[in-house]
Amino acid sequence: MATNAEFPPYEFYEGEEIVGIDAEFAAAIAEKLGMELKIEDMAFDSIIPAVQSGKADFGAAGMTVTEDRMKEVDFSDTYYTGRQVIIVAEDNTEITGPDELVGKKIGVQQGTTGDIYATDDYGDENIERYNKGFEAVQALKQGKIDAVIIDDQPAQTFVKETEGLKILETEYVEEEYALCFKKDSELVEKVNDAIAELKEDGTFDKIIDKYIGGEK
Ligand code: GLN
Repeated sequence: MATNAEFPPYEFYEGEEIVGIDAEFAAAIAEKLGMELKIEDMAFDSIIPAVQSGKADFGAAGMTVTEDRMKEVDFSDTYYTGRQVIIVAEDNTEITGPDELVGKKIGVQQGTTGDIYATDDYGDENIERYNKGFEAVQALKQGKIDAVIIDDQPAQTFVKETEGLKILETEYVEEEYALCFKKDSELVEKVNDAIAELKEDGTFDKIIDKYIGGEK
């Protein structure tokens, strides 16, 4: 499994170990398939190349299904509806939604859908790219940028850990997460069967509840 362990509660370090929804979900899938799970941490935009080259059998990283990515990899059935949200300083009264981001400095995690959509909507010159979502949040805290666009769940974790920031109620984009595979990989069908079983028998909900609790 290729991942980027900077994305709580989907994948993050607890000591030396990578834990989170994707890590546990993948472990449950591997168990169903009688396979052994090994997790490799890498930059988010290295995951698709790793899967394409066969360095990894699949990617699991809260990854959004997009048309462009579908040209490069196959996706499993989707397993979570994510939202791109906007984080601003708590005392910011000017930015209340996506419309007010025009002309502002926006921080994103490099290569994510937040990056791709924001670059499209607000122009490359207004986007500041960071290797980790948390670094974008720190830059916002320090007043270097006006807003961060990032997935809702990591946004909640980062805002909880950082004083003086808030998540806007008006979301930016809604999207679906899935696991990615090399094109025409035989694993996709087997994994989809396992996903269906894990949803059916309650394992999947248990994992989500453990990490997201009542906030779903
Ligand atoms: N869901 C976003 C994407 O697919 C971000 C994923 C991530 O940063 N791990 O681009």
